[in-house]
Amino acid sequence: MENCLFCKIIAGSIPSSKVWEDEICYAFRDIAPQAPTHVLVVPKAHIESCNGITAANSAVVAHIFEVIPQIAKAEGLEGGYRVVSNCGADAGQTVHHLHFHILGGKTLALEMA
Ligand code: 5GP
Ligand code: ZN
Repeated sequence: MENCLFCKIIAGSIPSSKVWEDEICYAFRDIAPQAPTHVLVVPKAHIESCNGITAANSAVVAHIFEVIPQIAKAEGLEGGYRVVSNCGADAGQTVHHLHFHILGGKTLALEMA
């Protein structure tokens, strides 16, 4: 997808700090971490947001949720972690390529909104 920041990161044309890669997804450290551990997990296929998840591509999302605990374990998040996906303007989505934030490494605030 042209002009998509995360597609460029996946392609390697914009550098990133990779923590996981397989044929379906890519994970890298957020450039502006909101917690001691802040990793973004993205499908390699361009999906705009949660709104773009369909029966045709939801296996990719299932795979990402199988990978997330493995990343959390590798990052030492035994105490727990949060998984967040911002969808659309009201949620503050700034990059329009589906991504899941993994946040951990401290006791996170409980506020969700
Ligand atoms: P959103 O606000 O769309 O849920 O999350 C986008 C995330 O991408 C933000 O947490 C932001 O810090 C991160 N981000 C934006 N540009 C870059 C970049 O060039 N590299 C990396 N590693 N993260 C980025
Ligand atoms: Zn993209």
